[in-house]
Amino acid sequence: MTDQHPRYRALLTGVTGQDGWYLARRLLAEGQEVHGIVRDESVVDSISAELPGLQIHVADLRDNDSLLRALDAAAPDRLFNLAGSTSVARSWEAPVETADTIGIGAVRLLAAAWEQQERTGREIRFLQASSAEVFGDPATAPQSERTPRNPITPYGAAKDFAHTMVQVYRHRGLYATAAILYNHESPRRPTTFVARKITAAVAAIARGRLDHLSLGNMDALRDWGYAPDYVDAMMRILDAPEPHDYIVATGNAHSVRDFLREAFAVVGIDDWESYVSVDPNLYRPADPRALVGDAARLRELGWEPTVSFSELVRTMVQADLDELEATPAL
Ligand code: GDP
Repeated sequence: MTDQHPRYRALLTGVTGQDGWYLARRLLAEGQEVHGIVRDESVVDSISAELPGLQIHVADLRDNDSLLRALDAAAPDRLFNLAGSTSVARSWEAPVETADTIGIGAVRLLAAAWEQQERTGREIRFLQASSAEVFGDPATAPQSERTPRNPITPYGAAKDFAHTMVQVYRHRGLYATAAILYNHESPRRPTTFVARKITAAVAAIARGRLDHLSLGNMDALRDWGYAPDYVDAMMRILDAPEPHDYIVATGNAHSVRDFLREAFAVVGIDDWESYVSVDPNLYRPADPRALVGDAARLRELGWEPTVSFSELVRTMVQADLDELEATPAL
């Protein structure tokens, strides 16, 4: 497939993150021309080695001139905005930076895309990585594209503003869409997220390298999907003839406790409760109780998740076991 001519030029922000990495890899495998924006020059060598063929531009979502240069150099047909800290918990420590990077950053990109489209007459299709966090602590489950947005965290508020600006530019005439992404995981997810924190700890416990795991709220319900399925959704969303917003979710809710039980089962540990304790410091000031999405609209584009909850947990635990094998104990 790699010898086919590119059908389009894609520009991705956040290419070093979980989703950007999977999306760039997939687009490169399809033979598209792929450009990625990185903020930090020091990662250029490692990301080039991991994603051969990727064209890299150094720019910062907080710096308009750097973004304009990257857009001019890449001249994209498709722009995927995946950048910004994804940590809801950390957004309380850096609310201003969160608003600037995620909220205003999206406006900088939308404005630059619109200006370039007006100047060149060539269509740019824009996908914003929105988030289930825009719903806050919703009264109904599952949520759909019609559920009122009502964020309760600085992260959710910044994503909500970015989402609104996508709708504003769509009204103006830009092909702009928001993918409302529910939690999606993979072995590339950092351990700051509960899923990877659990699988890394369970693998370490199974190999005798750790004896304990502390967690916060174990009753929260989340809709956990597999990241490569979610980048597949992003590609389908921009292939659609008309721009819409889409829920990207499996429709299945599980608690953090379910995730734990499932992960310990992979390594054959039944008395998992003896390894886990609750640390009140890990509770959040505001935490949605049940985020689960209805992706009926997206399924009309032919999308469906390819990995079940059990398979996701097993894949992640196995990857963490493999990583431990490769790193001898000190
Ligand atoms: P989020 O839904 O995007 O915030 O993704 P996370 O994976 O960070 O959190 C998912 C849920 O797990 C939230 O309800 C957290 O409160 C809960 N949780 C419980 N213990 C922990 C923990 O130790 N770390 C994290 N990150 N989340 C935890």
